[in-house]
Amino acid sequence: MKRVHIPRWFKIISIALAIFLVAILAGLIGLGWYVKNQMLDSGGKLPASMAAYDIRHFDLEVEVFPADRRIEGRNTVTVATLDDLSRFEINLDDRLELESVTADGVACTFHHRDSVIAVELPAPWAAGERHEVSIIYGGTPKVALRAPWIDGFVWSETPTHEPWIGVTGQSDGGDNWWPCKDHPSDEPDEGMDITLTVPAGLVGLSNGRLLGETENADGTVTSRWHVSYPINNYLVTVNIAPYVPIEERYHGVDGNLDVPLVFWSVPEYEVHARTMWRQMPGILEVLGRRFGEYPFFADKFAVAHAPYYGMEHQTLVAYGAMFTDNAYGFDELLLHEVAHEWWGNKITVSDWADFWIQEGFATYAEALYVDDTLGEERYLDYMRRIRQRVSNHKPLVRGENLTSAQAYSGDIYMKGAMVLHTLRWLLGDDDFFEVLWRFVDGDHPDACRLVSTNDLQALVGEVSGLDLGWFWERYLHRAKPPRWRVKRRPEGDRERVEIRWDDRGFELPLPVVVGGKERRLEMSGGRASFLVERDTVIEVDPDGRVLARAAD
Ligand SMILES: [Zn+2]
Repeated sequence: MKRVHIPRWFKIISIALAIFLVAILAGLIGLGWYVKNQMLDSGGKLPASMAAYDIRHFDLEVEVFPADRRIEGRNTVTVATLDDLSRFEINLDDRLELESVTADGVACTFHHRDSVIAVELPAPWAAGERHEVSIIYGGTPKVALRAPWIDGFVWSETPTHEPWIGVTGQSDGGDNWWPCKDHPSDEPDEGMDITLTVPAGLVGLSNGRLLGETENADGTVTSRWHVSYPINNYLVTVNIAPYVPIEERYHGVDGNLDVPLVFWSVPEYEVHARTMWRQMPGILEVLGRRFGEYPFFADKFAVAHAPYYGMEHQTLVAYGAMFTDNAYGFDELLLHEVAHEWWGNKITVSDWADFWIQEGFATYAEALYVDDTLGEERYLDYMRRIRQRVSNHKPLVRGENLTSAQAYSGDIYMKGAMVLHTLRWLLGDDDFFEVLWRFVDGDHPDACRLVSTNDLQALVGEVSGLDLGWFWERYLHRAKPPRWRVKRRPEGDRERVEIRWDDRGFELPLPVVVGGKERRLEMSGGRASFLVERDTVIEVDPDGRVLARAAD
């Protein structure tokens, strides 16, 4: 055996490379650990202690101190008991400290760990009673690593170095900055009041209708907001900056309204914002025609210029994109977030496992806007663009009692929209739009409610009269979309064409173009066959109307 001589320089480089790779790996593991630690769970399985009461009302008072990135607050929670309780539990991130807790005005002892405030009640509560718990807290809230995906406060500055502040909590839950039940299944049925105090010179905005504003002797301004609808905890927010209002007026789908639509812009972006905002009445009219009028007019319609990308905060949508329209002539982020006022805020999923409903419908609303303003060809084009971004790595619905982060994926947007697009092909426009209208309760603009995938399936069954278990099973509970296979063989002087799905139980009709003529091919038993002249050109779904593809 010949001894191989390894040069010294080679050894040194090899060792250096190995050390470098180990350092990179350790860095990646460390970064992953750090990012995971920057996310609080929201949703999941609701503990029995929190299933034992129903939230009726929140009265939240918050003062924000931009200079030291601190908040102080008090939340008075009104609940109706559903079960007997000797201890009351509610959530708040441990980064914030409690000063005191009272139950029905009586001071209580409490523990605060793992984001749970456990309050020992002075006397047990029985089922069917109404009680009030008041929590005074404060401190340095979680800072967002990358809002709105990795949540928390965003302490930013305008181009002229004025405070520009916002907060998000869709992944964390609202308990990353205020005490609440950190679960999407319980909204305050009697609404919410929010009192926000900020330094004078800044405009403090929150959800709901502005009741009044007071200038305080200590150089602060307090604004009082009333939310007259149920609101999910992650939809509660504040936006703080030296904002200027930009107003357009909306006259309603039938021309019988006259309401202000306000964009709160950071002053340096006012010109861009003014141009962008001109499209808002038109967007609202298209969405109102499809889904019923905007649901929260009794509170307000407003969008705040945010120091992060965007979030559908109820009646105060956050917009932080670049004021540029897409190739279809509208601001995509603006439309998407505003569409959530119906799909997410008016109707909200009670389990994050059904997250796809909110994102799928909001994404599909973008395509519907294209359909209604530019026509079918551009709509199909928009859907093909969405389809290119579907990954199919995991099923859309993966069990029950999931946290927001567990349920989140790119597919809840893109594949969610594609499932609706495919459902539209299956049902036809009349039934499909009746489903949309009734699901979002278009006849009752004021009706907020919690929904699930099962509710949607039941409604589709009711409207269509069809048992579509195979459709939902394939598109929601399996990762890979269906495939078709085309076979042709001579039969006499003609050809027999047979098209089969990869699953006999899957009966989605296919759009097929035979010799230039489009037809809807029914696929009962997962297959269909027909005769054509030899060499007839056959195209399956050339426009991309269904989420499926040819088998390899
Ligand atoms: Zn969205």
